[in-house]
Amino acid sequence: MRDVAFHLPFFYGSISRFEADEFLRLGGMTDGLFLLRVCLRNLGGYVLSLVFDQKTYHYSIERQLNGTYAIAGGKPHCGPEELCEYYSKDADGLCFALRKPCLRPAGVEPKPGVYDNIRENMLREYARQTWNLEGDALEQAIISQAPQLQKLIATMAHEKMGWYHGIITRDEAERRLYSGAQPDGKFLLRQRQESGTYALSLLYGKTAYHYRIELDKSGKFSIPEGSKFDTLWQLVEYLKIKSDGVIFILREACTNPNQPADLVRPPSLPRNRQEAASLTCNPDGYTPDPIEGRRMLPMDTESYVSPYSDPEELKEKKLYLKRECLLIDEVELGSGNFGSVKKGVYKMRKKQIDVAIKILKNDNENSLKEELMKEASFMQKLDNPYIVRMIGVCHAEHLMLVMEMAAAGPLNKFLSGRKEQITIETIVELLHQVSMGMKYLEQNNFVHRDLAARNVLLVNQHYAKISDFGLSKAIGANDSYYKARTAGKWPVKWYAPECINYRKFSSKADVWSFGVTMWEALTFGQKPYKKMKGPEVVSFIEQGGRLDRPSDCPDEMHELMQECWTYNSKHIGGALSHNKTIIPNILLKPQRSF
Ligand code: ADP
Ligand code: MG
Repeated sequence: MRDVAFHLPFFYGSISRFEADEFLRLGGMTDGLFLLRVCLRNLGGYVLSLVFDQKTYHYSIERQLNGTYAIAGGKPHCGPEELCEYYSKDADGLCFALRKPCLRPAGVEPKPGVYDNIRENMLREYARQTWNLEGDALEQAIISQAPQLQKLIATMAHEKMGWYHGIITRDEAERRLYSGAQPDGKFLLRQRQESGTYALSLLYGKTAYHYRIELDKSGKFSIPEGSKFDTLWQLVEYLKIKSDGVIFILREACTNPNQPADLVRPPSLPRNRQEAASLTCNPDGYTPDPIEGRRMLPMDTESYVSPYSDPEELKEKKLYLKRECLLIDEVELGSGNFGSVKKGVYKMRKKQIDVAIKILKNDNENSLKEELMKEASFMQKLDNPYIVRMIGVCHAEHLMLVMEMAAAGPLNKFLSGRKEQITIETIVELLHQVSMGMKYLEQNNFVHRDLAARNVLLVNQHYAKISDFGLSKAIGANDSYYKARTAGKWPVKWYAPECINYRKFSSKADVWSFGVTMWEALTFGQKPYKKMKGPEVVSFIEQGGRLDRPSDCPDEMHELMQECWTYNSKHIGGALSHNKTIIPNILLKPQRSF
């Protein structure tokens, strides 16, 4: 995972302000000469260093909550490159416009940060240890949760540093500092026993100084009165350059005799899936996020990987399940034309899992039976963390489709009335998961044809899975769409115009439905086109009408849903009409607390 600015010839990586000044001096100090470097304080941020009137100015570029980049008080941009391009046209508040990039001298590569080298390994090691994942499941976990994991890992990276001594007393810290040579600036960082907060111990003039490290409400670390940092290692790196609030700059690390330690998790983090699962015990799937420590990730749940990922369970896998292994509860989770969905437990060889059982009420109706079997054979082909998995079919008193359980139920119901509890960031995160599940379907040439908030089920408030494959189809190897022979009982309000007009269904049509699903989620479960009937909606869309922007909906999300509803009338009658080829991967907003 290279820095997004790595390719820019004026990007220098993790260099200090002084090094930046030096490069600019070598570059001639002309007005508008500039370079870009990594911000040592804010995770994911940059600094723009710029010359004007023989002086250098340093503007910090922050990565904002919605994933955009901005200089304080300035316009947001989607990346550092776009930001630089913008300020090259217009100074817009800077002391001068960016005129001349200060190019890296030949042979100088962007300087890697202390953390860059260990990030990949830590990420992998963390995912492997915490969730016991391997192979594809491990890779998928890393890809799908990259922003959260990176943040989590970054906040733990100090544990890998030689200067970090874990929990030791002040006396022990002094003993370690005084042993061997005692140069000014010899330092270590430790965790304080009583409070779990951190302290920096530093030698100067053969005396040990101890500084308490404060942690503010937004999760930033600082020496009292000093600059604030996202992580402890950034604070240390900064104090190596500038003695901001401490008596001397940090020079030589007093190394921990026990390093390199294994990755030790702070006590507030769940250690494994079982422990994490105990965090979500509310029957309705809503649990307030812990203030400290981290909240649940999808990988913490049992249903992130298939119950058949265990080879011993896989040996026993069959389409038809034994009735005696299935316990059916009276609790009804939902119902429909076909019958009802009940809660249950399925006994596997080594474990028991919670299941949802779709029970056909009238087995005599062959067409219903056929439909359920079609749904089952479709689901059998799928295995993705963001799609409800089928466990099997059970043919006993009724024909039953047994699926993994998504206990918090349909997304629209879950969100309605929870405006106070659920943040927009959480909704974006859930939609991102849906987009990943849809991407998987597209890559495997399947069309869902019934994507809607009612068919997105939640395992908990931070984990969504796509369900209801009753209308789904495989697309032929040489086709780009599925053509329905006749129109049926269709969810018209979720359908793209070409579905209605030409009965053509492609992944692009699923993108349209995804847009409507986004709208449903961002309105906290409202019904789309509330006052209109199906045919009215069709002509409303044909005339260019679209759903309104939900209140408090972020700009990017509104733009994205409008893009999902692109309809290119020139293509009518020919190929499919709108441009999106894949379900957009919404930028997941990084969150401060996990
Ligand atoms: P239909 O084809 O009638 O829409 P669905 O597959 O969408 O059938 O299921 C109907 C309802 O049953 C859902 O809205 C949901 O409340 C419940 N349900 C279905 N599958 C599950 C599951 N795997 N976990 C929990 N609830 C489920
Ligand atoms: Mg449904």
